[in-house]
Amino acid sequence: MLSISHSLTGAFIATHVPNPLLSVPLIFAAHYLEDWIPHWDIGTGLSNGTRAKSTAMKLEVIDLIITFGLVFWFWQLGHVAINYYAWMGAGIGIIPDFLEAPRNFLKWEPKPIKYFNDVHGFFHHSTPSKIFGLIPQAIIVVAIYFMR
Ligand SMILES: [Zn+2]
Repeated sequence: MLSISHSLTGAFIATHVPNPLLSVPLIFAAHYLEDWIPHWDIGTGLSNGTRAKSTAMKLEVIDLIITFGLVFWFWQLGHVAINYYAWMGAGIGIIPDFLEAPRNFLKWEPKPIKYFNDVHGFFHHSTPSKIFGLIPQAIIVVAIYFMR
């Protein structure tokens, strides 16, 4: 899924489960389970060569800018104190995707990272359809907005 979906989910979990011994594994598990839902994301087409790496990088920058804005809006706006749980959760939420970056962009995959990438790949289901691939993510974003 997009960084938007994974980061908001991570922030949501971290702000509701303050113990990192519980929240970090939960955030990873949520990432893999969300990727199990057929979805459209930046990596769609990257592995089979139908999307250029430069296009993927530009889309990811846009994805991260929107992600930053939504985390700020949902958890930081109107609060003076920095919500460390929200920001850390948001960052942890996208670790599984960033662990794939060296393989996707540099064709380099050290063994410990390969283990995580294999788990990620096992759960990952993408669709080239933007509409059907974005609907579940829109539902996640709206649900988190109201439940946060
Ligand atoms: Zn992922």
